[in-house]
Amino acid sequence: PLPFDAERVRADFPILNQEVNGHPLVYLDNAATTQKPRAVIQALVDYYEQDNSNVHRGAHALADRATQKFEAARVKVAEFINAPEARQVIWTRGTTEGINLVASSWGRSNLKAGDRVLVSAMEHHSNIVPWQMVAAEKGATVEPIPVDVDGVLDLAALQDMLDERVKMVACGHVSNALGTVNPVEQVIRLAHGVGALTLIDGAQAVSHWPVDMQALDCDFYVFSAHKLFGPTGLGALYGKVALLDAMPPYQGGGEMIESVSFAGTTYNQLPYKFEAGTPDIAGVIAFGAAIDYLNQLDRAGAAAHEKALLAYAEERARATPGVRLIGTSANKTSVMSFLLEGAHPNDVGMLLDQQGVAVRTGNHCAQPIMEQYGVPGTVRASLAFYNTRDDIDRLFAALEKVRLFL
Ligand code: PMP
Repeated sequence: PLPFDAERVRADFPILNQEVNGHPLVYLDNAATTQKPRAVIQALVDYYEQDNSNVHRGAHALADRATQKFEAARVKVAEFINAPEARQVIWTRGTTEGINLVASSWGRSNLKAGDRVLVSAMEHHSNIVPWQMVAAEKGATVEPIPVDVDGVLDLAALQDMLDERVKMVACGHVSNALGTVNPVEQVIRLAHGVGALTLIDGAQAVSHWPVDMQALDCDFYVFSAHKLFGPTGLGALYGKVALLDAMPPYQGGGEMIESVSFAGTTYNQLPYKFEAGTPDIAGVIAFGAAIDYLNQLDRAGAAAHEKALLAYAEERARATPGVRLIGTSANKTSVMSFLLEGAHPNDVGMLLDQQGVAVRTGNHCAQPIMEQYGVPGTVRASLAFYNTRDDIDRLFAALEKVRLFL
């Protein structure tokens, strides 16, 4: 690939080229969702203009073409995360549904009274609540692994918490609220040491560097297409074959069965057992286009660019009076959460938006960690590889105006 050049790749993202409230858009809300390159948008159009039909069941050319592209995307995603086999990639509606699938299917058939599920104290609600739901049903508990003042997971505390009653350790790869990169390799190793399974929420990791299922050795890994430059409402669940094979279906319906009769129904093989109903065919194919797009990028160069941008943004933040960074781990990626002294995060967000700067404000679906910091929420600027130093300069120029105004 060509050496990474943020200015050049920006041109692949048509949405970035617009004015908001009279100012050129500065998009710093990539942890909420990333923008889509033209190739992804075109894949959606091409599908609906040329191939639209249902997958896996048609006896005609369009259905064959749709099926072939749909399954090719599965192979692309499997290769992208270095999964041993494509059938280990199950399409979901997103990270949230992936976790619900595992909590519901694996959890209901494996958790019992007295069992423990550990999650980090900085988890997104989607990696807390599904576990709480199944735990309540089964008489199990969901307990937080402590996080220190810098937003770093306390591995020693995890080690102390682990015993044979712990059946699942569910942990984010990167915190969407703080930007902390968690030492998931060690979390997985420690959990396996007591026979617990692991689920890694990769929603905020996959867009920043290549993840490797075989090197990680996690049992489940989940992510969303829309945070990886693909369409909304789609995601992937990776799981180990033996676990997925043993798990009961999550939803019943078409596609997930082998044969149906009133005497008894048998289920389809992987991955179809977990894919009841007509899937988001267009989305899956366009997700494949997003993977193709990433594969032709200099990803190491993109990661280095993002790292330098975050360092620059944090340096500017530290030099700005009244700015307090929330999340100061030495190992962070692409998220800068902060507060402006004397200002509510929502007001800061609104005043930044008036100057064309898009950030997110609030608790970032991570209320427990916000509570630990004693804040109602933060202002979050989150980066993707198409952001530039100019975007950061615009953010701080706009913040300076907010500071004078408030
Ligand atoms: N986990 C993390 C770490 C996230 O950042 C998000 C999205 N904010 C989710 C889970 C949920 O993803 P989705 O809404 O795409 O299901």
